Amino acid sequence: MSPPPDHHDYHAQVHHGQQGHPGHAHGNQLSTEQPMFCPECGAPVQLRGTAVSAVCEYCDSTIVRAGIDLQLIGKVSALIDNGSPILLHSKGKLDNVPFVVDGRLQVQYERGTWNEWFLNFADGTIGWLADAQNQFSILKPIDPNQVAGRVPSFDDLAPGQPIRVAGRMLVVVDRRGAAYKGAEGLLPFRAEPGMQFYGVDLRGYNEEFATLDWGNDPHHDQPIPYFGRAVTLQSIGLFPLRQFQGWEPARPPA
Ligand SMILES: [Zn+2]
Repeated sequence: MSPPPDHHDYHAQVHHGQQGHPGHAHGNQLSTEQPMFCPECGAPVQLRGTAVSAVCEYCDSTIVRAGIDLQLIGKVSALIDNGSPILLHSKGKLDNVPFVVDGRLQVQYERGTWNEWFLNFADGTIGWLADAQNQFSILKPIDPNQVAGRVPSFDDLAPGQPIRVAGRMLVVVDRRGAAYKGAEGLLPFRAEPGMQFYGVDLRGYNEEFATLDWGNDPHHDQPIPYFGRAVTLQSIGLFPLRQFQGWEPARPPA
């Protein structure tokens, strides 16, 4: 089966300028000490690490930092239960580096809905765990200079086309615009509900996955590249996992 492309786009730095690309959010290191409260409902909200947006777990407001205050930028739609076994705050390891699932974007396009889980790694890097119909992959941002001005434009890319990214020959498997529908937890960009994201997914011959992310404007030549591979939840030791009726209870990794 060919999974719906797994998109790691939307981390889509609202194109040049606004809060910065997910991989470059280091200027946004935020203090974890100060208590902050949702401007809409008053519930405590934590914005920490590389997070730029947080979704209030009580009222679904999306909140961003504005100076020392928090600013409301909208309310997200309720998340659609698409049967994902992944849970916010679950932990795992990729190549022996521990990570935490800190947020989730739910994205919709013509062929359905998928989840992008925002990961913060113990070494200070970030990544995205894409989750579409029980196919999983983890991608991390790589140097944008690897592709800036070197890959065809969004409009000129088509499925089946081979292109070189990060020194590897990859093939375009999908090109799409998708809408950000719902979210929970923390996100590394200014996540305005309803945003559109433009991206192209690529596959290599050795399980490599990549995405070129044009953000909310497909007409520029500096997409953000993400690179990674397919994973299984077992191989990354993700725990805990959501319990479904009739499933064996998940066990912590040994
Ligand atoms: Zn709230």
